[in-house]
Amino acid sequence: MTLPRVIVLATGGTIAGSSSSAASSARYQAATVPVSALLEAVPALKDVARIEAEQVAQIDSKDMSFGLWARLAARVHHWSTQDDVAGIVITHGTDSLEETAMLLHLAGVASVPVVLTAAMRPATSLSADGPLNLLDAVRVAAHPDAAGKGVLVVINQEIHAGRDAVKAHTSAVDAFASPGTGPIGLVQDALVRFTRAPLRLPRQALPLPQNWPAVEIVASYAQPGRAVVDALVASGVRGLVVAAAGNGSIHETLVAALADAARAGVAVVRSTRTGAGNVIAPAQPNPSAGAFVSAGDLNPYKARVALLLALGADPALAGDPVRLQQFFALI
Ligand code: ASP
Repeated sequence: MTLPRVIVLATGGTIAGSSSSAASSARYQAATVPVSALLEAVPALKDVARIEAEQVAQIDSKDMSFGLWARLAARVHHWSTQDDVAGIVITHGTDSLEETAMLLHLAGVASVPVVLTAAMRPATSLSADGPLNLLDAVRVAAHPDAAGKGVLVVINQEIHAGRDAVKAHTSAVDAFASPGTGPIGLVQDALVRFTRAPLRLPRQALPLPQNWPAVEIVASYAQPGRAVVDALVASGVRGLVVAAAGNGSIHETLVAALADAARAGVAVVRSTRTGAGNVIAPAQPNPSAGAFVSAGDLNPYKARVALLLALGADPALAGDPVRLQQFFALI
């Protein structure tokens, strides 16, 4: 029997990290072990798929950039159009994995399953979690049931929708969660079982911007100043995502600054800093009042990725909160 062909694109992260002490999983350097060594460490991969690997980058994912996003998306697209590629696995750092997953989800760059995986402990650590996560990710990418489910995240034996997965713990091996929705499946040895399908798949693929718009995140908390917002507007920011309290509540000082920003044509999107739940959209955003748009259940970091792509595709959305709200309602 011919095994499915799976491409592994490596970008670095703790899964490729090493330490001089196997006893420490906190002191290490991310992104040092090449993808060839990661694959050699998991001989069982040979029984699951025919693997080809590419070292797209070798970074700590805290340092993710627009340029690397564009390169990664291009490599994903390239491989997905090659004959008989069953799926693509991306090894990634955990710190910004939720943003890359959101980007690839919205960009819809692949016609085959794209599975991001990572590790919380470096490759040299005792009980390193990377080898099993890599094996499980390849198992999912090679599995026929992964087709049509968009970008996926496989870690700690769970399968998450790329749109929903977030890093929710600093060090635990079960650091990833999908708040409000939960994982969509599991991997237990050779068993890959999806328990439900993700419903919020993109209706239309969004291209990556040629010129990335300036989109930043600000937070609401006790007695904030307005200087940060004013400075961002003065610097030419096109979009602001607010990590608001609760159901999108924003301190009155910040509201005043953000309303001025919206009146100046900056997109203002309310998300929540709570970690779960929806920010309910106003019945009718009112552009003349400096309206704010709601991010739904996207956390501030995922909402920022969505706003980057929305404004990249259509800069006029910055001054059109009604259409921008429609965009957020559909993703
Ligand atoms: N700083 C690392 C990274 O994101 C953390 C990790 O991979 O777990 O690349």
